[in-house]
Amino acid sequence: MKAAVVNKNHTVDIVEKKLRALAHGEALLKMECCGVCHTDLHVKNGDFGDRTGVVLGHEGVGVVSEVGPGVTSLKVGDRASVAWFYKGCGHCEYCTTGNETLCRNVLNAGFTADGGMAEECIVVADYAVKVPDGLDPAAASSVTCAGVTTYKAVKVSGIQPGKWLAIYGLGGLGNLALQYAKNVFNAKVIAVDVNDAQLAFAKEMGADLVINSLKEDAAKIIQEKTGGAHAAVVTAVAKAAFNSAVDAMRAGGRIVAVGLPPESMSLNIPRLVLDGIQVVGSLVGTREDLAEAFQFAAEGKVVPKVTKRSLEEINEIFDEMLEGKIKGRMVIDFTADTHAG
Ligand SMILES: [Zn+2]
Ligand SMILES: [Zn+2]
Repeated sequence: MKAAVVNKNHTVDIVEKKLRALAHGEALLKMECCGVCHTDLHVKNGDFGDRTGVVLGHEGVGVVSEVGPGVTSLKVGDRASVAWFYKGCGHCEYCTTGNETLCRNVLNAGFTADGGMAEECIVVADYAVKVPDGLDPAAASSVTCAGVTTYKAVKVSGIQPGKWLAIYGLGGLGNLALQYAKNVFNAKVIAVDVNDAQLAFAKEMGADLVINSLKEDAAKIIQEKTGGAHAAVVTAVAKAAFNSAVDAMRAGGRIVAVGLPPESMSLNIPRLVLDGIQVVGSLVGTREDLAEAFQFAAEGKVVPKVTKRSLEEINEIFDEMLEGKIKGRMVIDFTADTHAG
């Protein structure tokens, strides 16, 4: 089977690979789709350590073609996911208290385990979340990473119906955060970005207030117009966005960090103490979060914007990503290849 494998020159080779036999508790997926994420770019560039030889992909969706001994959670014909949270140890304090993504012995697909950017992928059945019927595989692949990450972040923000949530960064992640915030949590959403086109799209998707932070002081406007946001989800990769979010909060507000700028943010300690501001990080989501995120997408409450591409285009897609040309999510479509023979 063909797979996208990281090579030592930090590009990706499409190689012919033979998979080993399934072990106890494993299942084999015939892949339908796998989204391309910014994290894949970091992995192939060796930004998180050298990963030469690994099969990329943690936004995978495929159909079970075989199950190994002892598998009870999946059967042949089920559609299931290959997510960044590939497997936890199952018994540590994180795994047993609903914080399994923080497991210190975690395996991540397309990083420390072979991922879903291949015609076939071996998964640990109990960790591969089932995709509900009626959810398009390409849309499901986007929910597997971007969707669940933003769904979880909005959940962690603790936003209540009718309260103000500021979303900083309205790209691929932020746009999904907006849809979950509006259509699932029934929040009032403030969209903050430096790009007018992204803001226009956010407005179209139901944002209640849009602010271009290049032209205006976002925090000041949020304070004036709403009395301060109750919470913020920051998907932007600029330190300025995090600092603005702190200033945009009302007392008791909570800031959820999702974006990964390589810098530190400025925190005014008296402001944190006197106004009871909280700052928390949120990383992908648990299996249960993913099942919920899938269900809301299946119900049409959240519609990821995807473009289908072929496996052979993978290096091109990374180039486009670097140049900032990508709108929405690029998804490798394996079903097209099959039909072409
Ligand atoms: Zn991802
Ligand atoms: Zn664990």
